[in-house]
Amino acid sequence: MTILDEAAALTDEIAELRHDIHREPEIGLQLPGTQRKVLAALEGLPLEITTGRELTSVTAVLRGARPGPVVLLRADMDALPVTEATGLPYASRVHAAMHACGHDLHTAMLAGAARLLSARQAELAGSVIFMFQPGEEGCHGARYMIEEGVLEAAGGRPAHAYGIHVLSHELAIGAFSTRPGPFLAATDSLDVTVLGGHASVPFRNADPVPAACEMVTALQTMVTRRFDVFDPAVITVGSLHAGTARNVIPDTATFYATVRSFSEQARKRLELESVRLVRDIAHAHGLEADAQYIRGYPVTVNDSAEAAFAAEAVSELFGADRAGLRPHPLTGGEDFSYVLEQVPGAFIMLGACPPDTDPETAPSNHSAVAVFDDRALADGTALYAGLALRRLAADRQAG
Ligand SMILES: [Zn+2]
Ligand SMILES: [Zn+2]
Repeated sequence: MTILDEAAALTDEIAELRHDIHREPEIGLQLPGTQRKVLAALEGLPLEITTGRELTSVTAVLRGARPGPVVLLRADMDALPVTEATGLPYASRVHAAMHACGHDLHTAMLAGAARLLSARQAELAGSVIFMFQPGEEGCHGARYMIEEGVLEAAGGRPAHAYGIHVLSHELAIGAFSTRPGPFLAATDSLDVTVLGGHASVPFRNADPVPAACEMVTALQTMVTRRFDVFDPAVITVGSLHAGTARNVIPDTATFYATVRSFSEQARKRLELESVRLVRDIAHAHGLEADAQYIRGYPVTVNDSAEAAFAAEAVSELFGADRAGLRPHPLTGGEDFSYVLEQVPGAFIMLGACPPDTDPETAPSNHSAVAVFDDRALADGTALYAGLALRRLAADRQAG
């Protein structure tokens, strides 16, 4: 049997785990129920399992019969603070929590891959680390797992790392896509408070409102005039507040922006120049601005050889028509970036929208009505397992 047939034979079991996780979503770094479900799914397999100290992570190591390199496979397990409105039979039973980013699929697929690879333990030359992480959605779960030693779990550090992410839109079901180099954005924040005067006579009292407005437009000008169009940046001011009444000059004006970039170089300049820009505009108006640039996730950068390897694996497993190379990165962010900063690897997207919907118009990840189809599960499972199998076999030949 091929790994694809073996994954297909496991579909019911994988879907059942996925539905169990989907019905009881948990948010953030503490996912005790989800952790229990993963541990139960891995029970009886020949794995060395450790759980997180500060977070409910699960790290499982499969040691092959012969020595060889270490491959890391990662799935995230956390949900989002969204109230599900899909009406699916296995919809969330928890108010204001939903697996709207498909992490329930990732977790079930990786547990399935652990089962498939465990059955082939005798063939393996090397080890596989299965990294089940909480807190991908803004909580830096991958970074905490690295701090707690996930990269040393098998002894030697991983030589290769792979992660898969499902999309409820954009890609047809079963289509994979990746790209060499920057794949997802660095996701930083800019918080600005402009400090004004204290009364209602504008020519005697500094007004923070026009200065804040000027800052918002100047930030847009900055990204188009000061940043390379081929190494772009995105700044969106999504929140802007000042004052309470039409005839009172407010003490402060505050805005919050998300800042996205695709190289560490652009990111460092954004950090420096956005803060300088808003402070200098404040000074030009005789005001002060408190500007904080908060670093979020780094750029998710695929190793070129690993992205090519992953695309090849998809072609050979599923056919060339299922492997796509994206021409451009995506503007979302991912904390698998922390792993890819240290281990060459690739992040791969997998289309999971229901077959009767148009991927172009289907609700996107994070939507309360996003639907991820179970038919993607066997493919994702087979790719996780296939990447590890092929990688260990290729390294053995090369060595
Ligand atoms: Zn997400
Ligand atoms: Zn996600």
